[in-house]
Amino acid sequence: MSATEQLNVRSFIDGELVDAADGRTMPIVDPATGEEIGVAADAGKEDVDRAVAAATRAFPAWSTATPQERSLALLKIADVVEAHAEELASLESRDAGKPLGAVLEDEIPPIADCFRYFAGAARNLEGAASATYVEDTVSWIRREPIGVVGQIAPWNYPLMMASWKLGPALAAGCTTVLKPAPSTPASTVRLAELVADILPPGVLNVVVGGNDAGKAIVEHPDIALVSITGSVETGRWIAEHAGKHLKRTHLELGGKAPVIVYDDVDLEAAIEGIAGFGYYNAGQDCTASTRVIAAPGIYDDLVSGLSGAAQELVIGDMTDEATTLGPVNNPNQLERVTGFFDRLPSHAEVVTGGKRADRAGFFVEPTVIAGVRQDDEVVQREIFGPAVTVQRFSDEAEAIAWANGTAYGLSSSVWTRDIGRALRASAALRFGCVWINTHGLLANEMPHGGVKDSGHGKDLSKYSLEDYQYVKHVMASTD
Ligand code: NAD
Repeated sequence: MSATEQLNVRSFIDGELVDAADGRTMPIVDPATGEEIGVAADAGKEDVDRAVAAATRAFPAWSTATPQERSLALLKIADVVEAHAEELASLESRDAGKPLGAVLEDEIPPIADCFRYFAGAARNLEGAASATYVEDTVSWIRREPIGVVGQIAPWNYPLMMASWKLGPALAAGCTTVLKPAPSTPASTVRLAELVADILPPGVLNVVVGGNDAGKAIVEHPDIALVSITGSVETGRWIAEHAGKHLKRTHLELGGKAPVIVYDDVDLEAAIEGIAGFGYYNAGQDCTASTRVIAAPGIYDDLVSGLSGAAQELVIGDMTDEATTLGPVNNPNQLERVTGFFDRLPSHAEVVTGGKRADRAGFFVEPTVIAGVRQDDEVVQREIFGPAVTVQRFSDEAEAIAWANGTAYGLSSSVWTRDIGRALRASAALRFGCVWINTHGLLANEMPHGGVKDSGHGKDLSKYSLEDYQYVKHVMASTD
């Protein structure tokens, strides 16, 4: 598919591309221009029912395939991702509004590696040792796939989030109904199509639709687990409705990562790291380094350094190698981000940016807001746009209290040369991840997931695979 061709994205159910049962479609918009670039199916309950039925039919064979067989399939999927890197990256760049070079360099390799990691993990299940715990018996553990799972993805990293969901589910032996976000379905459907001869029909179904399709997944009685990456509000709705059926949930609901910077820091490295990950993907990242809590001794230098780094970002065409800042994904998000700017209190100081960029598309100027206070909205709520706030703390206790003082608990970082201070922070910060003198780096071997309003359950790592399984104790009499 060429980079200008109109998109026609359909659901992928039971091994076939299909329109919505009632024929409904929704437009796909290029966030970098605001122009329509195609249509996507707008699936509803009937489509979800078909997909769940297909996944249910496929479950007995896939769940009893040997770990080796599932592992080999995942290794082949990784190869497909690499072989079609340019095409998948181009689709991702077009409907998600991402600089193409960044997708190719930063996203495609970890996506392929994610499938490879879970190919290995499928063959390395862990559990208590088999033994005689009660006289004349022997006990052992089986890890069983939980069943047909519903997986709901966001628009910030469409294909990467799909890989984080598909890798562990398929490795565990689950079959899946995955719904991409309505604005970014193209890459996920294309991947499903490309791996159609690797996975038996019904093992991987992609339902292309909006929130109603998501709700139908959550409420379907034959879905055993719902995994969502999205907003806290959506997570709450899902937890509540999944609760009625006592379904398992796996919720990755965003964050508001604090970045504590002490005055003994390597300032240049801190500025590079914080700006690098605060503005990456236009700040639409649940781990983005956007809530800086700075020591008095470096506050001014840090604010001016971050503002300099923000001003160096280049807004431009998504296929131009020089472009380092893309748009936000959709008009709602643009309104949401600029709404925070409009509501800033008078004590907040917009050092740079602070408004929509003066061009077509959903671009926001890279922004630094200093002088903010702990209970300000921009400190407490996830902005999910290219905006970094800076607060000035007075001592270590205050820095930690402020860092912990929001509803979120996904990730955090601490920047200091004092190892004791860093280790104290790593224990005191109530987050699923603490980085020390870095921010935002992930490893497929290590878990990603939060506490508090950031949700529960882990992506990546063996912990994610285990989330898609239940533990069975088998005990046999030896008499
Ligand atoms: P959202 O939570 O509405 O959408 C995420 C996914 O959930 C989409 O696929 C959507 O169709 C689906 N969905 C929405 N309501 C549903 C429901 N009731 N049942 C089942 N599925 C449902 O997110 P959004 O409105 O697109 O973005 C709003 C905010 O969410 C952002 O500003 C950001 O703060 C946050 N967000 C976080 C992440 C993250 O990585 N954690 C990703 C996207 C958005």
